[in-house]
Amino acid sequence: MEIKILGDYHTHSTYSDAISSMTDVFQRAKDIGLAELGLSDHGYNNPLGGSLRHRTAKKQAKQIEELRERYAPLNIRHAIEADIIGVNGEIDITHEQMSMFDYVVCGWHLFARNKNIKSFFLMNVPSYLSGIRAPSQETIDRNTRAYIKMIMNNPIGILAHVNHGCKVNVREVAKCCADYGTYVELNNKNGIHGEDLEEILATEAKLIASSDAHEAKSIARLDKIEKILDRYPEAYERIVNVHENHIEFRSTK
Ligand SMILES: [Zn+2]
Ligand SMILES: [Zn+2]
Repeated sequence: MEIKILGDYHTHSTYSDAISSMTDVFQRAKDIGLAELGLSDHGYNNPLGGSLRHRTAKKQAKQIEELRERYAPLNIRHAIEADIIGVNGEIDITHEQMSMFDYVVCGWHLFARNKNIKSFFLMNVPSYLSGIRAPSQETIDRNTRAYIKMIMNNPIGILAHVNHGCKVNVREVAKCCADYGTYVELNNKNGIHGEDLEEILATEAKLIASSDAHEAKSIARLDKIEKILDRYPEAYERIVNVHENHIEFRSTK
């Protein structure tokens, strides 16, 4: 099933680990006729050089303001892809820091520094090992509680690539997203398993499809998501950014 999104809300630039500059990303988004482009470079606990710091995020915000006019009518949104870093749902950005962003994308990332050593052992180590040993039910339940706290305690706009790396009870997490107004992402870089999509569709959660592009030419590319939608065409109606050209996210202010 071919899908065309009106806005891509999860993309990266050379401000984090992508190969394209912000201006290349904006130009591409304008050229392909997107109404909105959300730039969401990686957050503060990822390795230096591949992620934003609050200082560079401010510089980025200023640059975006200066560039806006040049790329009109494309509406540029400034976001960040934050990280869940603790078993109590902690993330790597404070509420005060996130208020400068338009919205927050949040997910789990292999190389993001954990809140503390306990969270590292309970959350990251089982994920590192998941290739050779399936995480225990106890680990999955703990991760699920962490995700739910994260969504409840922080105005997360988009839950990024759920169940990729950090295993959770997808239905419980999606239910929480529906309750709090967080969009559940269909991420084209990582794809999504059919069973996970089924769990999401069993809830009232709204979906958002994004490329997670790390180079300009991948903006709005959704080949993997299109493939999975062949099996779950009912998901199409629930993808907000194929129907709306402006998305309201949970307020960061
Ligand atoms: Zn990510
Ligand atoms: Zn990303």
